[in-house]
Amino acid sequence: MGDAGDPGLSAGGIDAAGVADEDAASELCPVCSTPYDSVSLHDRGLLVNLLDNERYRRVCFEPVERDGRPHVRFFHHTHEQVGADD
Ligand SMILES: [Zn+2]
Repeated sequence: MGDAGDPGLSAGGIDAAGVADEDAASELCPVCSTPYDSVSLHDRGLLVNLLDNERYRRVCFEPVERDGRPHVRFFHHTHEQVGADD
């Protein structure tokens, strides 16, 4: 971290709900190196419950900095994307 900014991150595409669909289907999750379905950015705590989620198998969390404030990026993986390697 430090003052190197966050290369690779775009400030665009974030709606009022703090969800960013960056159309990054060809990219890999920085946490588990697995393709992900969508990314969201959060600047406060929230509850995640995937026990009964039919679409997503898991969500990885990556801490990032935006405008000097801590945020967390969520990488949503579908059951198909996690699939056989987990
Ligand atoms: Zn992941």
